[in-house]
Amino acid sequence: MSIETFDIIVIGAGIAGASVAAELAQTRRVAVLEREESPGYHSTGRSAALFSEIYGNSVVRALSRASRDFFYAPPEGFTAHALVRPRGSLYIAREEQVPHLEDFARNSDLAGSIRRLTREEALRACPILRPDYVSAAVFEDDAADVDVNELHQGYLRRFRKAGGQLVLNADVQALARQGERWIVQTSSGMFSAPIVINAAGAWADAIARKAGAAPLNIRPCRRTAILVELPGNLAAGSWPMVIDIDETFYMKPDAGLLLISPADETPVSACDVQPEELDIAVAIDRVETATTLKFTRIRKRWAGLRSFAPDRSPVIGFDPVQHGFFWLAGQGGYGIQTAPAAARLAAALVRDKTPDIDDIPIAQLSPQRFAVAARSRV
Ligand SMILES: Cc1cc2nc3c(=O)[nH]c(=O)nc-3n(C[C@H](O)[C@H](O)[C@H](O)COP(=O)(O)OP(=O)(O)OC[C@H]3O[C@@H](n4cnc5c(N)ncnc54)[C@H](O)[C@@H]3O)c2cc1C
Repeated sequence: MSIETFDIIVIGAGIAGASVAAELAQTRRVAVLEREESPGYHSTGRSAALFSEIYGNSVVRALSRASRDFFYAPPEGFTAHALVRPRGSLYIAREEQVPHLEDFARNSDLAGSIRRLTREEALRACPILRPDYVSAAVFEDDAADVDVNELHQGYLRRFRKAGGQLVLNADVQALARQGERWIVQTSSGMFSAPIVINAAGAWADAIARKAGAAPLNIRPCRRTAILVELPGNLAAGSWPMVIDIDETFYMKPDAGLLLISPADETPVSACDVQPEELDIAVAIDRVETATTLKFTRIRKRWAGLRSFAPDRSPVIGFDPVQHGFFWLAGQGGYGIQTAPAAARLAAALVRDKTPDIDDIPIAQLSPQRFAVAARSRV
């Protein structure tokens, strides 16, 4: 059987694989191998599409901040449409949650990104909230809705334009290092390259095992979302995304409907995950408790996987043991908003160049951190 040869093979055509492949294809011969018949079928096509610089841990926030310019001013020819539209995010607390909201608001990393709102201001921003539910609130003015499809397709267009090859229906079944190259066996043929990038989302550990690399305990967790009809002729367009400070639910206007989620995080095996009735009922109950709304019709329901490394930071860097095996995984609930900076960082590391991005804690993203942590436990 013939083997197609490249400089770099990327496994997975979600936002992680598409974005890093687009960067690298500008100077290298790159193939992206995707098991599904369309890219973005898994987590990338199932997100809540928010960009927020205050969401996630400090490592995630640094990547999000470093991605901001790309969203607002993408490279020439990347897209004909805006990638982001202002949305605002409103964190609310009930009386017993106020200490948690105070802790959150005191975080020096968030200073300048948030402002406190009185209850009245919070209710003005989102008039369906119950006055007796909200005791305190903070607001992030600069959060935004992301056009995820346009971002993803923009990266894939840029990739193809540079000569990159996207191979669909190519399930990676085996990987072996032969001399200086990886031989990758898929359901659509054999491919070879000195460097393989593991951008397989929930399947990142499974791909590592196939490559003989130690898995990093990247855990896929189910998150559920539904789109519900709004009663009467409520104009929700200008409402912010509303997030419970303990992240027990969130809601966000979406094209005349309301996207709501119980913010569940149930560990599951990597799969084509589907929503559970109980999670849907919990989402409805929590939002109806916090608001004056009663929902009568669900238009759409889905679930997706958010995959976390043990410290909840993404994993970006070469495997410490398996030569030429690069991790771009563990993006959790932040893989869309961090994609531009993560891709630039990953591409620089693959090219063995110093990344031209400021304030990114590279050591806290490297897979090496788990080897260091394991050694310090001994
Ligand atoms: C409900 C929900 C809401 C979210 N909201 C947000 C949000 O508001 N903002 C944000 O930034 N993020 C959000 N996220 C997270 C975001 O969607 C993910 O972090 C991101 O999509 C991960 O991208 P990925 O490319 O790593 O994974 P994926 O999109 O899952 O791509 C991985 C790809 O690898 C392929 N693959 C796996 N195994 C193989 C194999 N053996 N051979 C070939 N291909 C393979 C898969 O088919 C898949 O296409 C949300 C997620 C969910 C579920």
